[in-house]
Amino acid sequence: MRLIDADELDEWLSKTIRTARGVGINPLAAMVLQEHVREMPAVEPKRGKWIREVGKYYQVRRCDQCGHVTVEQVRNYCPRCGAKMEE
Ligand SMILES: [Zn+2]
Repeated sequence: MRLIDADELDEWLSKTIRTARGVGINPLAAMVLQEHVREMPAVEPKRGKWIREVGKYYQVRRCDQCGHVTVEQVRNYCPRCGAKMEE
């Protein structure tokens, strides 16, 4: 899950609805999407930690909230559950 700024999306949809004519975006579809976005529940962002796991032949980091494993560069959030990672 990726947390986004719903207010910014709502603003973008409003602008798209006003200006979409002729640019290939269906204003009605944008209005329906905007209604759904406005009805979505807000969630409190989780906080988590990357737990470093080192084996004989590997090194990974695991999200302590959902168990997502990554070998990529450490991010400040978990791409699966959206937990904001502590330093
Ligand atoms: Zn996670």
